[in-house]
Amino acid sequence: MRYSSLLFFLLVFTLTTLPQNFTGKKFALDPGHGSPRGTTCEPETKRYEAWMNHIVMPYLKQMLQRDGATVFSTRGDFDSLGACITLSEREAVANNNNVDFFHSIHHNAFTGTSNYSLVLFEQLNNTICPNGNPQWPGQADSMSIYMAAELFAGLQTTVGYPRGDYCFLGYNLGVLNNLNMPGVLSEGSFFDFPAEILRLANLDYLRTEAEAQYLSYLKYYKKPLPAHGSLVGLVTSLSTGNPVKGVRVVLTSLGKTYTVDSLGNGFYRFDSLPREHTQFQFIPIRILPIQQLQ
Ligand SMILES: [Zn+2]
Repeated sequence: MRYSSLLFFLLVFTLTTLPQNFTGKKFALDPGHGSPRGTTCEPETKRYEAWMNHIVMPYLKQMLQRDGATVFSTRGDFDSLGACITLSEREAVANNNNVDFFHSIHHNAFTGTSNYSLVLFEQLNNTICPNGNPQWPGQADSMSIYMAAELFAGLQTTVGYPRGDYCFLGYNLGVLNNLNMPGVLSEGSFFDFPAEILRLANLDYLRTEAEAQYLSYLKYYKKPLPAHGSLVGLVTSLSTGNPVKGVRVVLTSLGKTYTVDSLGNGFYRFDSLPREHTQFQFIPIRILPIQQLQ
């Protein structure tokens, strides 16, 4: 099998040890939905979203735990078919364990035409829209600003919105309304947007979403950002503009390669890279058709 290779260079910077940023901190992570079985559980239409939520959650959990945090999850890791659980039971996991922050992880859907990132927090009312009168001022609303920006930067959705739930939805989110601590609900991207469907089927893309969330925790708690970072992007054809399949992306300076999958998303990801920048490097690559390179 022949691949076209695309070469570029990455500067190498000094490595430093990852600090234990979250020692003593407790978080509750909630993968949205699950168990599309039976009449009391989630509808079948939530199966695909539940699958993604239940992968992003343990990815984020691992990153926070590596940084010293204690993490309670409302449902099993990588198990979207586990036992049913209500929204109140999800909140109870956070309340009973007296965590510092709660986070429910979701993906969105509309009519296949939208693909923005959204992070919702609880509002007391809708007298000042979109974001006035938060239940946890300077906390959940602040986290939603960081997280929406990081999701947008990491996934390159159309925009990242931090929003109060009452103004945005017309009601308070049931998974946030009885928390004893600040919490947010993130909608990383839209799982019914055609190009996004193909990206969300790639586990490395879901890991990128988790990494974006992790960076927002670091920023919210004013912790040093990691010395290692990720380089992600989409490889598209110069002639058609479409994402390519099976192309090998090479970081020659580090001896790393990534082969774009065959799903048609064009996505590539390198992680654990030394870097000088504090955020994602999202670099789109446009290449000539493969037959012209060979
Ligand atoms: Zn959802």
